[in-house]
Amino acid sequence: MSGRYSTGLCYCGSGLDNHQLLDARGIFCGYVCEKCEAEKRSHYRPDIFEDGDYWADEPIDDDY
Ligand SMILES: [Zn+2]
Repeated sequence: MSGRYSTGLCYCGSGLDNHQLLDARGIFCGYVCEKCEAEKRSHYRPDIFEDGDYWADEPIDDDY
């Protein structure tokens, strides 16, 4: 997967290299490693990592 880059060891203390956790829209959610990625993802709605249209249910109010 491109677009992932590490800043060094993960902040969770695992001793593993971290990488960027990005949602389906490429929005940065934090730095994770393979040990804490699942835990970090659990703080977010799971669909934001799978469905890039997750905000599309907001009505578009074009009132000009
Ligand atoms: Zn970690």
